[in-house]
Amino acid sequence: MKKNDPFENVITIDGPGGAGKSTLAQGLAHALDWLCLDTGAIYRALALTLTELGLPDATPRAAGLTAQDMGLEFRREGAQCRLFLHGREPGEALRAPEIGLLASAVSAWPEVRSALLPIQRAAGREGRLVAEGRDMGTVVFPEARLKFFLVADLSVRAERRRLELAAQGVEVTLAKVTAELKARDLADATRSLAPLAPSPGAVTVDSTDMTVAEVLALALQEAKETFDL
Ligand code: C5P
Repeated sequence: MKKNDPFENVITIDGPGGAGKSTLAQGLAHALDWLCLDTGAIYRALALTLTELGLPDATPRAAGLTAQDMGLEFRREGAQCRLFLHGREPGEALRAPEIGLLASAVSAWPEVRSALLPIQRAAGREGRLVAEGRDMGTVVFPEARLKFFLVADLSVRAERRRLELAAQGVEVTLAKVTAELKARDLADATRSLAPLAPSPGAVTVDSTDMTVAEVLALALQEAKETFDL
């Protein structure tokens, strides 16, 4: 690997919900022996914390303060960053559609984004990180040398998300998952702060008709060329 700035040795993956970002990030991190960071889980953790505190209607200021005070910690396990809140692993509770919608709502607030930015940057300080979210390439790790923008048709994303939830024992109808993804896509892409958008220079991959293995193979090839691995 050539460059020395750790923030250059980061791969970013941005895109809408259900496009396969987490699967790709985990696959890449595992194959390269890098660390994987799911930043959506951080926004979901805040949404879960607010819900548990009985504050789903918190003001932006209160949400920003809660973001700083939710006892967020990452513990490395192999290529994974496991997320803890005050020492407790929230697990599947983070994946509920209502938590995703609240995460999307609170993530539009500057107070929340500025509280969570340093936490995400800190995870990249040693480099060799695969970070996935909505603004990894544009805002959090603009120095990253390899950026992906992963997309897929809404119907395919909704079915993938439904199957993922079913595998976790969460039964949700396709109609509900589709409506939730559509609402989040719109909110995430149209907010004024850190909207979902490809970073200049990002490699756009449409995974609609691709298998997980095909997307991973393509991304690995790009990573090997970019980082001289
Ligand atoms: O990726 P995931 O679906 O878990 O993200 C949940 C929500 O968190 C997104 O809909 C988005 O509003 C927000 N988010 C964000 N910036 C990120 C990651 C997620 O605003 N980097």
